[in-house]
Amino acid sequence: MAPKTPKIVRTVADLRAQVATWKAAGERVALIPTMGALHQGHLSLITLGQTHAQRTVASVFVNPKQFAPHEDFDSYPRGEARDAELLAGVGCDLLFAPNVDEMYAPGFSTTINLTGVSQPLEGAARPQFFGGVATVVTKLLIQSQADVALFGEKDYQQLQVIKRVVKDLDLPVEIIGAPTARAEDGLALSSRNAYLSPEERIAAVALPDAMKAAVRAVAAGGRIDEAEAAGKTALIKAGFRQIDYFDVREAGDLSRLGPGSIGEAEGRILVAAWLGKTRLIDNMAV
Ligand code: AMP
Repeated sequence: MAPKTPKIVRTVADLRAQVATWKAAGERVALIPTMGALHQGHLSLITLGQTHAQRTVASVFVNPKQFAPHEDFDSYPRGEARDAELLAGVGCDLLFAPNVDEMYAPGFSTTINLTGVSQPLEGAARPQFFGGVATVVTKLLIQSQADVALFGEKDYQQLQVIKRVVKDLDLPVEIIGAPTARAEDGLALSSRNAYLSPEERIAAVALPDAMKAAVRAVAAGGRIDEAEAAGKTALIKAGFRQIDYFDVREAGDLSRLGPGSIGEAEGRILVAAWLGKTRLIDNMAV
């Protein structure tokens, strides 16, 4: 039997026509933006979306505007047939898969310019990144006219940036964050894990392990600077070649905490580190 696939639309006009039909029937619509190469983390967002809306729309678009020229836009894993099959398996109603010209027509000249929560961490390591993310997500929200949109805590700073953009631009959509889906050994699921060699995949578990150790130390009243230093040392020892950041930050605005104990603050530990050619990011609540 041929695998079941969800309906696929490739133009904004077709997306809007389908959503309008659902809304006319009184149905709520949830949008789950992705770059494809779907895994259980993405699928958990669809399933959570189904508890907030009658209809779920997944978008798959590898967004050129959020990659710098030296980054992995060309090699980013792509596979629409498999993605469509996985979406059908969890009952997703519609796949929006526009091409680059549909999203960025010739002459496209608009970019969302951000300050504040977008500036540290990923914003410092990848200066073009959040402008590209905010631009494409804003477009997707306006294109789909979704009632609710879901984003993973896996990309914790991205979730905070999107909440900020939606508030600042009065976009009429509810943003929901979803917990990070992890492999059995604790590594966060990510499309980029496909880049890891078998040896690197084994070594990668040091990332969640180092974060858990830091969470334990800080929650027990230990110094934040010492927990951060110990985390970096553990990653280098495990074979990571570069650490962009291993920081305990304030959970809401991502301002710096420490160097002493966390006190009453609500913290978030955020890490980006390189294992060979692969850049992994992860975060946990403190
Ligand atoms: P991406 O395709 O990597 O751009 O991710 C699309 C959405 O899935 C984003 O909201 C991510 O935060 C979310 N996501 C990615 N990995 C995970 C994961 N392991 N658990 C939960 N959500 C995830």
